[in-house]
Amino acid sequence: MPGSYLHAFTKPTRNEFISLVRGEGARVYDARGREYIDAMASLWYCAVGHGRREIADAVARQMTTLESYSNFDPFTTEITDRLADRIVGLAPLADARVFFCGSGSEAVDSAMKLVRQAHVLAGRAQRTVILSRMRGYHGANYGGTSAQGLPLNKAGWGPLVGDVEQVAADDIEALSVAMSKHGERLAAVLIEPVQGAGGVYPPPPGYLRSVRELCDKHGAYLIFDEVITAFGRLGTWFGAQAFDVVPDVLCFAKAVTSGYVPLGGVLVNGRVRAPLESDPSFILRHGYTYSGHASACAAAIANLDILEREGLLARALRIGARLESGLVALRNDGLIAEVRGTGGMWAAGVLPGHDAQKIRDIALDNGVIVRGIGAETNAFCPPLVITDDELSRVLDVYADAVMHAAH
Ligand code: PLP
Repeated sequence: MPGSYLHAFTKPTRNEFISLVRGEGARVYDARGREYIDAMASLWYCAVGHGRREIADAVARQMTTLESYSNFDPFTTEITDRLADRIVGLAPLADARVFFCGSGSEAVDSAMKLVRQAHVLAGRAQRTVILSRMRGYHGANYGGTSAQGLPLNKAGWGPLVGDVEQVAADDIEALSVAMSKHGERLAAVLIEPVQGAGGVYPPPPGYLRSVRELCDKHGAYLIFDEVITAFGRLGTWFGAQAFDVVPDVLCFAKAVTSGYVPLGGVLVNGRVRAPLESDPSFILRHGYTYSGHASACAAAIANLDILEREGLLARALRIGARLESGLVALRNDGLIAEVRGTGGMWAAGVLPGHDAQKIRDIALDNGVIVRGIGAETNAFCPPLVITDDELSRVLDVYADAVMHAAH
C-alpha cells in the first residue's frame, strides 16, 4: 500500500522510495546510510551544494527577526527590497523591476498574465496569443501546462488556457509563420533559452537572436523562461547574457536560493512596466500570499553571496567542459548515441533499444544520481561545487550503467 504522501511526478502506486536524510556539497545520504553523488543538483536547482550553514544561519536570523510579512498594499519587507535591487542590478533587462513568487510555475503564470495585462493597459487588448515551443517545459500550473510542449503532461486536466499555442522547437521559419498568422493578436513568445526538462536542447546558432528580431517586428514581448538557466548554470547570471539576447520578461526560480527555501520571480523591462505604471489608479491584481517572503529572500541573498564569493559561475563552465568531454568519449566508444548541452547542463541521448530509466536506476544502485527523461535521455546538471574527482566518478558510474543496461 502506498503511504500518506502523494508524490509529484510519480506513479501514485509507487510504494518504495529512496528516503534522503542528509546532504553535504554534491553528496546526499539516504536513511540506510548510502551515499550518492548528486549529478542533478536535486532537480536542477541546488547550485551552491547541500548543507550550507551560511544559508541556514541567514534564514534563521531573518526568521527570528521577522519571518515574513505580506507584501500586499501597503507593506513591503526590507530584505525583499534589498534582494530586488540586487537581482535587478545583475539582470541585463533595461529599466527592470522584479516581481516575486514561490516557484517556477508561479513565475511562468505570472509572466503570462503580466504580458497580457501590459498589452491591455497599452490599449492593445486584442493581443492575447502566447506562442511557445514543442519540447518546452514551463511548470505545472494551468498557464505553464498550457504553454508546455510535452504532450503527456498536458493530457487529462480539462480545458487549458486559451490562445496559447506551440510551434516546432528549433524551427525559426515555423515561428515566423505562426507569428505572421496571429499578427496583431500576438502577446508574447515564451521560450526556454536552453530547453531543460524536455531533454537538454541548446538553441540552434542564431535562433534566439532571430526570435528577438521577430518579436520586435511583430510587437510581441519576448519571455525567457530561465527557471533552470538563471543564476549561474550557463556561466553567467542569466542565460540571456550567455547568448547575448535580452528578453522583455525573464522568469527565474530554483538557483536563486539553490532551493534552500522556495522562491521564484519575474523580471520585466521598461516596455512592460511602462503600461503597468501609466495609470496611477491601476491596481495590479495579481500576487501570492508568499510574494516577497522575507525568509526566502534571506536565503537568496546568502546564496547569491556564495555564488559570487566562490566564483561558481566560472565553475559551471569547467564542469560543463568536463561533462562534455566525458560524454563525447562515451559517444565515440559507441555507448551512447548523442551528446547535448551547454554551460553546466548536459544530456546523453541513449542508444536505440536502451532505456534511460533503467540506466538511471543502475547508476543509483552505484551511488550516482542522474535524471532519466523519458526512455531516451539522461541528464546531468550537478551542483556547481562538485569536485573534479566526483565528476570523474559520475562519468565512470554512468558508463558502467550504460554497459550493464545493455544486458
Ligand atoms: N520552467 C522551467 C524551464 C522549469 O525547468 C521548471 C521546473 O523544472 C519550471 C518552469 C517549473 O518550476 P517549479 O517546479 O518550481 O514550479
